[in-house]
Amino acid sequence: MHILVINTGSSSIKYQLINMEDESVVAKGVCERNGADGRIIHSAKGKTVKFDVSLSDYKTIAKKIIPLFLEGETAVVGNLDEIGALAHRVSIGGELAGESIAATNENIRYIERFIDLAPIHMPVQLAFANACREVFEKQVHAIVFDSACHLTMPEKAYLYPIPYEYYEKYGIRKFGYHSISFRYIAARIAEIKGQTNLQGIKLVACHLGSGSSIAAIKDGKSVDTTMGYTPLDGIMMGTRSGTVDPSALIYLAKYENLSFEEVTEILNHKSGFLGVSGVSNDSREIEAEADKGNKRAKVTNEMFAYQAKKYIGSYAAAMNGIDILAFSGGIGENSVRMRERICKEMEFFGIELDEKKNHDQNQMEGRISKSGSRVEIWIIPTNEEITMARDAYDILRFGKPQRP
Ligand code: ADP
Repeated sequence: MHILVINTGSSSIKYQLINMEDESVVAKGVCERNGADGRIIHSAKGKTVKFDVSLSDYKTIAKKIIPLFLEGETAVVGNLDEIGALAHRVSIGGELAGESIAATNENIRYIERFIDLAPIHMPVQLAFANACREVFEKQVHAIVFDSACHLTMPEKAYLYPIPYEYYEKYGIRKFGYHSISFRYIAARIAEIKGQTNLQGIKLVACHLGSGSSIAAIKDGKSVDTTMGYTPLDGIMMGTRSGTVDPSALIYLAKYENLSFEEVTEILNHKSGFLGVSGVSNDSREIEAEADKGNKRAKVTNEMFAYQAKKYIGSYAAAMNGIDILAFSGGIGENSVRMRERICKEMEFFGIELDEKKNHDQNQMEGRISKSGSRVEIWIIPTNEEITMARDAYDILRFGKPQRP
Protein backbone atom coordinates (compact mmCIF):
# COMPACT_ATOMS: atom_id res chain seq x y z
CA MET A 1 0.00 0.00 0.00
CA HIS A 2 1.19 3.52 -0.86
CA ILE A 3 0.50 6.84 0.87
CA LEU A 4 0.77 10.18 -0.93
CA VAL A 5 2.10 12.86 1.42
CA ILE A 6 1.29 16.47 0.57
CA ASN A 7 3.23 19.32 2.12
CA THR A 8 1.80 22.63 0.96
CA GLY A 9 3.81 25.74 1.79
CA SER A 10 3.36 29.40 0.93
CA SER A 11 5.05 29.14 -2.48
CA SER A 12 5.25 25.43 -3.25
CA ILE A 13 3.40 22.14 -3.02
CA LYS A 14 5.76 19.26 -2.24
CA TYR A 15 4.70 15.63 -2.38
CA GLN A 16 6.13 12.17 -1.76
CA LEU A 17 4.68 8.78 -2.60
CA ILE A 18 5.69 6.33 0.12
CA ASN A 19 5.47 2.55 -0.06
CA MET A 20 4.37 1.58 3.46
CA GLU A 21 5.74 -1.96 3.19
CA ASP A 22 9.27 -0.67 3.72
CA GLU A 23 8.50 3.05 4.18
CA SER A 24 10.56 3.86 1.07
CA VAL A 25 9.97 6.99 -1.03
CA VAL A 26 9.13 5.72 -4.54
CA ALA A 27 8.38 9.09 -6.16
CA LYS A 28 8.54 12.71 -5.18
CA GLY A 29 7.98 16.11 -6.65
CA VAL A 30 7.31 19.74 -6.16
CA CYS A 31 4.98 22.22 -7.81
CA GLU A 32 6.67 25.56 -7.35
CA ARG A 33 5.85 29.07 -8.39
CA ASN A 34 7.32 29.94 -11.77
CA GLY A 35 6.34 33.55 -12.43
CA ALA A 36 2.54 33.69 -12.50
CA ASP A 37 2.38 29.96 -13.23
CA GLY A 38 3.61 26.83 -11.56
CA ARG A 39 6.15 24.25 -12.59
CA ILE A 40 5.96 20.59 -11.60
CA ILE A 41 9.30 18.83 -11.13
CA HIS A 42 8.68 15.14 -10.58
CA SER A 43 11.19 12.35 -10.05
CA ALA A 44 10.97 8.58 -9.70
CA LYS A 45 13.19 5.63 -10.65
CA GLY A 46 16.12 7.99 -11.24
CA LYS A 47 14.18 9.98 -13.90
CA THR A 48 13.03 13.60 -13.62
CA VAL A 49 10.27 15.28 -15.63
CA LYS A 50 9.40 18.98 -15.62
CA PHE A 51 6.43 20.88 -17.04
CA ASP A 52 4.39 24.04 -16.46
CA VAL A 53 0.88 24.13 -14.94
CA SER A 54 -1.51 26.85 -13.88
CA LEU A 55 -1.06 27.51 -10.18
CA SER A 56 -4.50 29.02 -9.76
CA ASP A 57 -6.33 25.76 -10.48
CA TYR A 58 -5.51 23.25 -7.76
CA LYS A 59 -7.67 20.48 -9.25
CA THR A 60 -5.64 20.60 -12.45
CA ILE A 61 -2.39 20.32 -10.50
CA ALA A 62 -3.71 17.27 -8.64
CA LYS A 63 -4.91 15.72 -11.92
CA LYS A 64 -1.56 16.28 -13.63
CA ILE A 65 0.30 14.37 -10.92
CA ILE A 66 -1.67 11.12 -11.29
CA PRO A 67 -0.33 9.98 -14.70
CA LEU A 68 3.22 10.53 -13.43
CA PHE A 69 2.66 7.74 -10.89
CA LEU A 70 0.90 5.41 -13.35
CA GLU A 71 2.44 5.86 -16.79
CA GLY A 72 5.70 6.23 -18.69
CA GLU A 73 9.22 6.12 -17.36
CA THR A 74 8.25 7.37 -13.88
CA ALA A 75 5.47 4.76 -13.36
CA VAL A 76 5.67 3.25 -9.88
CA VAL A 77 2.15 1.85 -9.29
CA GLY A 78 -0.06 -0.28 -11.57
CA ASN A 79 -3.31 1.50 -10.73
CA LEU A 80 -4.61 4.25 -8.48
CA ASP A 81 -6.05 1.76 -5.96
CA GLU A 82 -2.48 1.07 -4.84
CA ILE A 83 -2.54 4.54 -3.28
CA GLY A 84 -4.70 4.03 -0.20
CA ALA A 85 -4.60 7.47 1.37
CA LEU A 86 -3.28 11.01 1.18
CA ALA A 87 -1.78 12.89 4.12
CA HIS A 88 -2.26 16.68 4.05
CA ARG A 89 -0.18 18.91 6.29
CA VAL A 90 -2.22 21.69 7.93
CA SER A 91 -0.61 24.30 10.18
CA ILE A 92 -3.16 24.49 12.96
CA GLY A 93 -6.16 22.60 14.27
CA GLY A 94 -6.89 24.41 17.51
CA GLU A 95 -7.75 22.84 20.84
CA LEU A 96 -9.72 19.89 19.50
CA ALA A 97 -7.02 18.69 17.13
CA GLY A 98 -4.60 16.78 19.35
CA GLU A 99 -4.03 14.20 16.64
CA SER A 100 -4.44 13.68 12.90
CA ILE A 101 -8.00 13.37 11.64
CA ALA A 102 -9.86 12.37 8.48
CA ALA A 103 -10.46 15.23 6.03
CA THR A 104 -14.28 15.16 6.16
CA ASN A 105 -16.39 18.22 5.26
CA GLU A 106 -17.22 18.68 8.93
CA ASN A 107 -13.57 18.55 10.01
CA ILE A 108 -12.48 20.95 7.25
CA ARG A 109 -15.19 23.41 8.34
CA TYR A 110 -13.87 23.20 11.91
CA ILE A 111 -10.28 23.86 10.77
CA GLU A 112 -11.26 26.84 8.60
CA ARG A 113 -11.79 28.99 11.69
CA PHE A 114 -8.01 29.02 12.25
CA ILE A 115 -7.09 30.45 8.84
CA ASP A 116 -6.33 33.89 10.33
CA LEU A 117 -3.56 32.41 12.47
CA ALA A 118 -1.59 31.18 9.46
CA PRO A 119 -2.97 33.37 6.66
CA ILE A 120 -0.18 32.58 4.20
CA HIS A 121 -0.23 28.80 4.60
CA MET A 122 -3.71 27.65 5.64
CA PRO A 123 -5.79 28.89 2.68
CA VAL A 124 -3.53 27.08 0.20
CA GLN A 125 -3.25 23.98 2.38
CA LEU A 126 -7.02 23.63 2.65
CA ALA A 127 -7.70 24.55 -0.98
CA PHE A 128 -5.24 21.95 -2.25
CA ALA A 129 -6.53 19.32 0.21
CA ASN A 130 -10.08 19.92 -1.05
CA ALA A 131 -8.94 19.71 -4.69
CA CYS A 132 -7.21 16.39 -3.93
CA ARG A 133 -10.35 15.07 -2.22
CA GLU A 134 -12.23 15.60 -5.49
CA VAL A 135 -9.50 14.19 -7.73
CA PHE A 136 -8.46 11.24 -5.52
CA GLU A 137 -12.08 10.41 -4.77
CA LYS A 138 -11.64 6.79 -3.69
CA GLN A 139 -8.75 7.50 -1.33
CA VAL A 140 -8.89 8.29 2.38
CA HIS A 141 -7.66 11.82 3.17
CA ALA A 142 -5.93 12.57 6.46
CA ILE A 143 -5.17 15.97 7.93
CA VAL A 144 -1.92 16.05 9.89
CA PHE A 145 -1.56 19.12 12.12
CA ASP A 146 1.67 20.92 12.81
CA SER A 147 0.26 22.13 16.14
CA ALA A 148 -1.11 18.85 17.51
CA CYS A 149 1.57 17.48 19.81
CA HIS A 150 1.68 20.58 22.01
CA LEU A 151 -1.91 20.24 23.22
CA THR A 152 -0.45 18.22 26.10
CA MET A 153 1.02 21.44 27.57
CA PRO A 154 -0.39 22.33 31.00
CA GLU A 155 -2.53 25.45 31.42
CA LYS A 156 0.30 27.30 33.17
CA ALA A 157 2.40 26.93 29.99
CA TYR A 158 -0.21 27.67 27.34
CA LEU A 159 -2.17 30.55 28.87
CA TYR A 160 -1.05 34.13 28.23
CA PRO A 161 -1.21 36.63 31.07
CA ILE A 162 -3.82 38.80 29.33
CA PRO A 163 -7.48 39.11 30.41
CA TYR A 164 -8.87 35.55 30.61
CA GLU A 165 -11.93 36.56 28.59
CA TYR A 166 -9.77 36.68 25.43
CA TYR A 167 -8.87 33.03 25.90
CA GLU A 168 -12.55 32.21 26.39
CA LYS A 169 -13.82 34.43 23.57
CA TYR A 170 -11.13 33.91 20.90
CA GLY A 171 -9.13 30.94 22.17
CA ILE A 172 -5.96 33.04 22.35
CA ARG A 173 -3.33 30.74 23.88
CA LYS A 174 -0.04 29.13 23.01
CA PHE A 175 -0.50 26.34 20.44
CA GLY A 176 3.10 25.67 19.35
CA TYR A 177 4.21 24.31 15.98
CA HIS A 178 6.71 21.94 14.28
CA SER A 179 4.67 19.18 15.88
CA ILE A 180 5.29 16.74 13.01
CA SER A 181 9.05 17.15 13.32
CA PHE A 182 9.00 16.92 17.14
CA ARG A 183 6.91 13.74 16.94
CA TYR A 184 9.45 12.21 14.56
CA ILE A 185 12.37 13.19 16.84
CA ALA A 186 10.63 11.81 19.93
CA ALA A 187 9.73 8.55 18.15
CA ARG A 188 13.28 8.16 16.87
CA ILE A 189 14.83 8.78 20.31
CA ALA A 190 12.44 6.20 21.79
CA GLU A 191 13.51 3.69 19.11
CA ILE A 192 17.20 4.41 19.76
CA LYS A 193 16.63 3.87 23.48
CA GLY A 194 14.76 0.64 22.77
CA GLN A 195 11.57 1.97 24.36
CA THR A 196 8.03 2.05 23.05
CA ASN A 197 7.67 5.59 24.42
CA LEU A 198 9.79 8.18 26.19
CA GLN A 199 8.60 7.33 29.71
CA GLY A 200 11.10 8.66 32.25
CA ILE A 201 13.02 10.76 29.68
CA LYS A 202 13.31 14.56 29.62
CA LEU A 203 14.01 15.61 26.06
CA VAL A 204 14.69 19.10 24.72
CA ALA A 205 14.19 19.01 20.94
CA CYS A 206 15.56 21.88 18.83
CA HIS A 207 14.08 22.18 15.34
CA LEU A 208 16.32 24.89 13.89
CA GLY A 209 15.71 25.80 10.25
CA SER A 210 14.36 28.79 8.40
CA GLY A 211 11.55 28.46 10.94
CA SER A 212 12.84 27.47 14.37
CA SER A 213 11.31 26.25 17.59
CA ILE A 214 12.35 24.31 20.66
CA ALA A 215 10.17 21.93 22.69
CA ALA A 216 10.39 20.48 26.19
CA ILE A 217 9.15 16.88 26.00
CA LYS A 218 8.71 14.99 29.27
CA ASP A 219 7.64 11.33 29.33
CA GLY A 220 6.93 11.65 25.59
CA LYS A 221 4.59 14.64 26.01
CA SER A 222 5.26 18.24 25.04
CA VAL A 223 5.13 20.36 28.20
CA ASP A 224 6.29 23.65 26.66
CA THR A 225 7.50 25.08 23.38
CA THR A 226 8.81 28.37 22.03
CA MET A 227 6.27 29.14 19.30
CA GLY A 228 2.98 30.50 20.52
CA TYR A 229 -0.49 31.35 19.27
CA THR A 230 1.21 31.72 15.87
CA PRO A 231 4.56 30.53 14.47
CA LEU A 232 5.98 34.05 14.94
CA ASP A 233 6.81 33.63 18.62
CA GLY A 234 9.88 32.31 20.40
CA ILE A 235 13.39 32.10 19.01
CA MET A 236 14.43 34.41 16.13
CA MET A 237 14.23 32.81 12.66
CA GLY A 238 15.26 33.35 9.04
CA THR A 239 12.91 36.28 8.50
CA ARG A 240 10.63 36.05 11.57
CA SER A 241 11.39 38.10 14.66
CA GLY A 242 10.41 35.65 17.37
CA THR A 243 9.55 37.24 20.71
CA VAL A 244 9.68 41.05 20.83
CA ASP A 245 8.30 43.40 23.49
CA PRO A 246 4.79 44.20 22.15
CA SER A 247 5.17 47.81 23.31
CA ALA A 248 8.13 48.28 20.97
CA LEU A 249 5.83 47.34 18.08
CA ILE A 250 3.10 49.69 19.23
CA TYR A 251 5.71 52.46 19.41
CA LEU A 252 6.99 51.62 15.91
CA ALA A 253 3.49 51.52 14.45
CA LYS A 254 2.79 54.93 15.96
CA TYR A 255 5.97 56.73 14.91
CA GLU A 256 6.50 54.98 11.54
CA ASN A 257 2.78 55.31 10.84
CA LEU A 258 2.42 51.59 10.06
CA SER A 259 -0.78 49.60 9.55
CA PHE A 260 -1.38 46.17 11.19
CA GLU A 261 -0.57 44.59 7.83
CA GLU A 262 2.72 46.47 7.58
CA VAL A 263 3.76 45.48 11.10
CA THR A 264 2.83 41.85 10.32
CA GLU A 265 4.93 41.99 7.15
CA ILE A 266 7.96 43.42 9.00
CA LEU A 267 7.77 40.83 11.78
CA ASN A 268 7.25 37.86 9.45
CA HIS A 269 9.37 38.72 6.43
CA LYS A 270 11.88 41.44 7.28
CA SER A 271 13.09 40.46 10.74
CA GLY A 272 15.10 37.61 12.24
CA PHE A 273 18.45 36.75 10.57
CA LEU A 274 17.64 38.98 7.62
CA GLY A 275 16.57 41.97 9.67
CA VAL A 276 19.50 41.95 12.08
CA SER A 277 22.29 40.98 9.65
CA GLY A 278 21.02 42.93 6.65
CA VAL A 279 22.74 40.13 4.69
CA SER A 280 20.38 37.20 4.21
CA ASN A 281 17.84 34.90 5.82
CA ASP A 282 20.18 31.98 5.12
CA SER A 283 22.47 31.00 7.98
CA ARG A 284 25.21 29.82 5.57
CA GLU A 285 25.50 33.27 4.01
CA ILE A 286 25.53 34.88 7.45
CA GLU A 287 28.37 32.57 8.58
CA ALA A 288 30.34 33.50 5.45
CA GLU A 289 29.81 37.24 6.02
CA ALA A 290 30.71 36.93 9.71
CA ASP A 291 33.95 35.21 8.70
CA LYS A 292 34.74 38.23 6.53
CA GLY A 293 34.36 40.46 9.59
CA ASN A 294 30.76 41.70 9.13
CA LYS A 295 29.77 42.73 12.67
CA ARG A 296 26.02 42.52 12.17
CA ALA A 297 26.35 39.01 10.73
CA LYS A 298 28.47 38.03 13.73
CA VAL A 299 25.98 39.37 16.27
CA THR A 300 23.13 37.60 14.40
CA ASN A 301 24.87 34.25 15.01
CA GLU A 302 25.52 35.16 18.62
CA MET A 303 21.89 36.21 19.20
CA PHE A 304 20.50 33.00 17.74
CA ALA A 305 22.78 30.78 19.83
CA TYR A 306 22.14 32.87 22.96
CA GLN A 307 18.38 32.63 22.55
CA ALA A 308 18.56 28.87 21.96
CA LYS A 309 20.73 28.47 25.07
CA LYS A 310 18.26 30.44 27.20
CA TYR A 311 15.30 28.35 26.07
CA ILE A 312 17.22 25.12 26.70
CA GLY A 313 18.08 26.38 30.19
CA SER A 314 14.49 27.39 30.88
CA TYR A 315 13.26 23.95 29.78
CA ALA A 316 15.76 22.32 32.13
CA ALA A 317 14.04 24.36 34.84
CA ALA A 318 10.56 23.44 33.55
CA MET A 319 11.32 19.69 33.59
CA ASN A 320 13.72 19.66 36.58
CA GLY A 321 16.53 18.45 34.30
CA ILE A 322 17.36 17.27 30.80
CA ASP A 323 18.40 13.77 29.71
CA ILE A 324 18.61 14.32 25.96
CA LEU A 325 19.19 17.39 23.80
CA ALA A 326 18.36 16.77 20.11
CA PHE A 327 19.19 18.95 17.09
CA SER A 328 17.18 18.85 13.89
CA GLY A 329 16.17 21.06 10.91
CA GLY A 330 18.41 22.72 8.30
CA ILE A 331 20.62 24.49 10.86
CA GLY A 332 20.34 21.90 13.64
CA GLU A 333 21.38 19.05 11.34
CA ASN A 334 23.98 20.85 9.22
CA SER A 335 25.66 23.61 11.17
CA VAL A 336 28.62 22.34 13.19
CA ARG A 337 29.37 25.88 14.35
CA MET A 338 25.86 26.75 15.51
CA ARG A 339 25.62 23.54 17.57
CA GLU A 340 29.01 24.41 19.04
CA ARG A 341 27.90 27.95 19.95
CA ILE A 342 24.67 26.71 21.53
CA CYS A 343 26.33 23.98 23.61
CA LYS A 344 29.28 26.12 24.72
CA GLU A 345 29.44 26.86 28.45
CA MET A 346 26.45 24.70 29.33
CA GLU A 347 28.37 22.40 31.72
CA PHE A 348 26.20 23.70 34.55
CA PHE A 349 23.29 21.85 32.92
CA GLY A 350 25.40 18.73 32.25
CA ILE A 351 25.60 19.53 28.51
CA GLU A 352 29.07 18.72 27.13
CA LEU A 353 29.55 18.58 23.38
CA ASP A 354 32.29 16.40 21.89
CA GLU A 355 33.81 18.70 19.25
CA LYS A 356 35.18 15.88 17.13
CA LYS A 357 31.92 13.92 17.10
CA ASN A 358 30.03 17.14 16.41
CA HIS A 359 32.18 17.59 13.34
CA ASP A 360 32.42 13.96 12.17
CA GLN A 361 28.75 13.18 12.75
CA ASN A 362 27.50 16.31 10.94
CA GLN A 363 24.32 15.77 8.85
CA MET A 364 23.94 12.21 10.15
CA GLU A 365 21.95 10.70 12.96
CA GLY A 366 24.17 10.12 15.96
CA ARG A 367 25.30 11.06 19.43
CA ILE A 368 27.66 14.03 19.64
CA SER A 369 28.11 14.50 23.40
CA LYS A 370 31.26 13.61 25.36
CA SER A 371 31.12 10.16 26.90
CA GLY A 372 30.94 11.68 30.41
CA SER A 373 28.25 14.25 29.53
CA ARG A 374 25.22 13.98 31.86
CA VAL A 375 22.99 15.05 28.98
CA GLU A 376 23.17 13.05 25.75
CA ILE A 377 23.34 15.32 22.71
CA TRP A 378 22.02 13.92 19.43
CA ILE A 379 21.62 14.96 15.81
CA ILE A 380 18.31 13.57 14.56
CA PRO A 381 17.69 14.43 10.87
CA THR A 382 13.95 14.97 10.78
CA ASN A 383 11.54 13.08 8.53
CA GLU A 384 8.19 14.82 8.60
CA GLU A 385 6.86 12.96 5.56
CA ILE A 386 7.15 9.53 7.16
CA THR A 387 5.38 10.76 10.30
CA MET A 388 2.54 12.06 8.14
CA ALA A 389 2.39 8.87 6.06
CA ARG A 390 2.18 6.69 9.19
CA ASP A 391 -0.76 8.72 10.51
CA ALA A 392 -2.62 8.48 7.19
CA TYR A 393 -1.92 4.75 6.97
CA ASP A 394 -3.29 4.28 10.51
CA ILE A 395 -6.40 6.34 9.70
CA LEU A 396 -6.89 4.20 6.57
CA ARG A 397 -6.62 0.93 8.49
CA PHE A 398 -7.93 1.76 11.97
CA GLY A 399 -9.82 5.05 11.61
CA LYS A 400 -7.37 6.93 13.85
CA PRO A 401 -3.63 7.33 14.52
CA GLN A 402 -2.13 4.56 16.62
CA ARG A 403 1.05 6.25 17.82
CA PRO A 404 1.94 9.47 19.62
P1 ADP B 1 12.54 25.01 6.55
O1 ADP B 1 12.22 25.54 7.93
O2 ADP B 1 12.07 25.91 5.45
O3 ADP B 1 12.22 23.55 6.36
P2 ADP B 1 15.27 24.13 6.64
O4 ADP B 1 15.01 23.21 7.79
O5 ADP B 1 15.61 23.56 5.33
O6 ADP B 1 14.11 25.18 6.47
O7 ADP B 1 16.46 25.11 7.11
C1 ADP B 1 16.95 26.13 6.32
C2 ADP B 1 18.15 26.74 7.07
O8 ADP B 1 19.14 25.72 7.23
C3 ADP B 1 18.81 27.90 6.33
O9 ADP B 1 19.09 28.94 7.23
C4 ADP B 1 20.11 27.27 5.84
O10 ADP B 1 21.14 28.23 5.80
C5 ADP B 1 20.41 26.26 6.92
N1 ADP B 1 21.33 25.26 6.38
C6 ADP B 1 21.10 24.35 5.41
N2 ADP B 1 22.24 23.66 5.14
C7 ADP B 1 23.20 24.16 5.95
C8 ADP B 1 24.59 23.88 6.16
N3 ADP B 1 25.20 22.94 5.45
N4 ADP B 1 25.26 24.59 7.08
C9 ADP B 1 24.65 25.54 7.79
N5 ADP B 1 23.34 25.86 7.66
C10 ADP B 1 22.63 25.18 6.75
